[in-house]
Amino acid sequence: MNEEIRTRIAPSPTGLLHVGTAHTALFNWLFARSKQGKFIMRIEDTDKERSRDEFIDDITDGLIWLGLDWDEGPERGDGYGPYLQSKRFEIYKKYAQELLDNKKAYYCYCTPEELEKERKEQSKNKQAPKYSGRCCNLTESQIAKFKAEGRKPSVRFKVESKQIKFKDLIKGIVEFDTGLFGDFVIMKSDGTPTFMFAGAIDDFLMKISHVIRGEDHLSNTPRQILLDEALNFAIPEYGHLPLILNPDRTKLSKRKNPTSLSEDFIKKGYLPEAMINFLVLMGWSAESGQEFWTLKDLINEFSFDNVGKSPSVFDQKKLDFLNGYYIRKMSIGDLAKIAADFLGKNEMVKDGNKFMVALSLVQERLKNLSEIPEQIEFFFKEPSSYKDIIVPKNGTLEKTKKALVESLKYLEEENDFGRDSLEQLLRAVATKNGFSAGVVLWPIRVALTGKIASPGTFEVLEALGKEESLKRIKKAIEVIK
Ligand code: GLU
Repeated sequence: MNEEIRTRIAPSPTGLLHVGTAHTALFNWLFARSKQGKFIMRIEDTDKERSRDEFIDDITDGLIWLGLDWDEGPERGDGYGPYLQSKRFEIYKKYAQELLDNKKAYYCYCTPEELEKERKEQSKNKQAPKYSGRCCNLTESQIAKFKAEGRKPSVRFKVESKQIKFKDLIKGIVEFDTGLFGDFVIMKSDGTPTFMFAGAIDDFLMKISHVIRGEDHLSNTPRQILLDEALNFAIPEYGHLPLILNPDRTKLSKRKNPTSLSEDFIKKGYLPEAMINFLVLMGWSAESGQEFWTLKDLINEFSFDNVGKSPSVFDQKKLDFLNGYYIRKMSIGDLAKIAADFLGKNEMVKDGNKFMVALSLVQERLKNLSEIPEQIEFFFKEPSSYKDIIVPKNGTLEKTKKALVESLKYLEEENDFGRDSLEQLLRAVATKNGFSAGVVLWPIRVALTGKIASPGTFEVLEALGKEESLKRIKKAIEVIK
């Protein structure tokens, strides 16, 4: 058993960083950091066709954005690298050869069509799919014949029939009957390793002490343990995290739910603090029931004892709630800085002071940063096309007109444009005319913002100031004439 705690995230760069991978990375990172261990990044790019450098960048950028730093990885050549599996093919070949030499593996010449036929027959006979093992004892002449046909063999691992039992960090004791497995491929016919084989070898060579990954990998674990045993490798501890599900309780998928950290969350203006908090609560909870967590606090509090066994459903509302919470918690200066970075070249950012005032108006209401332009637009330019929404639900055009005209009259006389005196004034206008407050406040707010949902009437009047407010109210009176 390794003394030092070493965990890893082992993404395949065949797509953008998936929230499921970010979730797994977080739990590995937390465990390593809480035990003064090491967190390692290993890129599993053995599938040359589907792996792309831009996905490696997306994955590493996303994890850095979350604050999950690693101690060893592709850019850090020290330790037990290289950390790109595409640079380790010679290593996998060597171990495959060792297994072949020890008769623990054999060449398999079956074609995909033959294997498919075998599977179909098994399913017709209501048998579980399992490789028959037919290439295990080929004669010299059979091999020569396959070679002459130009067949390229894969390498299969001979599965010994036995019970494999291990103690999962989360699920407890798990047991498998390997007799059900069938001999599995460790090197494909194109000479590349399967993920199962490369992973087992690298976990050993990189001295990974704890393999923490999604529950979808649970059935790979007994196979990897068999490989470890065959190669005389130390067997790591395993922990399988409960899955994240779509709201319809199917496995999280991008067809049904946002899944890309960069496209669906970073670009939409979610904050790393909210994302971390959201991810950790899918699976883990504190005994105290505390809901808001920073990475720093989590390091002190995290333990696998508090990771549940049941899957979590992806809850967008919860994420929005958490993101809103972290946005509200920020000082207005910090929010302005982060929002300016996020919005980049947007015109509204240019006048720093005005931008900050506008932000302070909407800070309470924001769920994410990408809502900012739409929510503060009215502060920078007069709204248009609000004709259809200016009459409140239970109001009439006549009453609306009257409310605006009357309010204008009083507002023109008012010199204190602070929100409190404006509130007194406009409530008095309503009472005087026998209107409910909404009949007066709604059309003014729409005249000023052009929106159904916006900050309140008094705040907006105060922020826009007397001159601009009166100008917009006058225009509204024209518009609805
Ligand atoms: N490359 C695998 C994946 O992305 C890693 C599995 C593992 O953690 O062992 O699912």
